[in-house]
Amino acid sequence: MWQDILEQVNHQFNEMVEMRRYLHQHPELSFQEFETVKFIKNFYQKLALPYQAPVGENGVVARLEGGKPGKTIAIRADFDALPIQDQKDVPYRSKKDGVMHACGHDGHTTILLTLAKLLKQYQNQLAGNFVFIHQHAEELTPGGAKSIIEAGALDDVDVIFGTHLWTGAPLGTVQTAPSRFMAGADKFKITIYGQGGHGAMPHQTKDAVVIGSQLVNNLQQIVSRRLNPLDTAVLTIGKFQAGDAFNIIADQAILDGTVRTFDPIMQDQMIKEMEAIIAGTCQSYQVDFDFDYIKGYPPVINHQQEAELVLKAAQQVPEVQTATFVKPTMTAEDFSYYLLERPGAFFFTGAQQTGQNYPHHHPKFDFDEQAMRIAVKTFLKLIEAYQ
Ligand code: MN
Repeated sequence: MWQDILEQVNHQFNEMVEMRRYLHQHPELSFQEFETVKFIKNFYQKLALPYQAPVGENGVVARLEGGKPGKTIAIRADFDALPIQDQKDVPYRSKKDGVMHACGHDGHTTILLTLAKLLKQYQNQLAGNFVFIHQHAEELTPGGAKSIIEAGALDDVDVIFGTHLWTGAPLGTVQTAPSRFMAGADKFKITIYGQGGHGAMPHQTKDAVVIGSQLVNNLQQIVSRRLNPLDTAVLTIGKFQAGDAFNIIADQAILDGTVRTFDPIMQDQMIKEMEAIIAGTCQSYQVDFDFDYIKGYPPVINHQQEAELVLKAAQQVPEVQTATFVKPTMTAEDFSYYLLERPGAFFFTGAQQTGQNYPHHHPKFDFDEQAMRIAVKTFLKLIEAYQ
């Protein structure tokens, strides 16, 4: 039977590509994914699988009960897109101005729907139950995962898995980690209240550009000088806004950035060091400031046993050449919330394109669609391990 199902995946492939390309042409922003939800609900209606929607704000959760007793396995896929103008020259490029599936969530949705369809065909022979979690709003904090969990989607779940198609890894690779896999991601905003004036008379002003520049440099020394070198963190200031004209000294500067860490102790240390540096720098220039720090998704910390199962499963997929543990990445994912509630693991399915390959969130982002087939097969092998 399991050999059969794997074979079925190959037969499904054209349909998968078609589905993914349809979704790709119709992307929707986080918390506004109403047509995508309709598409998913329709699919389950046709399959005659019971589902609940909306779960949390905008999630869809479908269930399949196997014919024999066993564990309840949840698999999650996100379905939101990004505020990016699609710049690809392909027939399936986004039909919506300024909105694009630039992270592969169209692929994730296709993978999960296909998996549900295949498992449905073998329902009576399966041991255990399956919960298909289609999650809204992964790209925008507070994210969709939290609300879906609060709505009870994990209540009867024993274990949860999820994957991200990953163009940073070659096709035919599956990557995960036994514990720390992705970082926690916070954001901050610093406002400096200087005093503007004539560009020729700096002594009568408090130059927000100069103070802001000083702050950028001072903050960069937290990771290099204040953290234990064996700990890991990132502090990035991605936006520095100040001034209106070349000969006017700016009265205000705004610095927006992100902090990435792997545990609450490091997170607290980063906040404490930032507070000290911001207050100290601003005091030395005699200016007021605001500092807003917003904690975001916690880090994705896999459970070792389940992460090992992912590798074993992937190694049995004919199209997989390497399935290995890798170093964590400093990117973030709200899959972390599920792993705080239940054992499980998140993994990357290599989806690098041959020739041109662009990173996630790039206006020309695309992935090798063969990776969807590999992901479905990896999930099937994982499920087989629980039979
Ligand atoms: Mn993503």
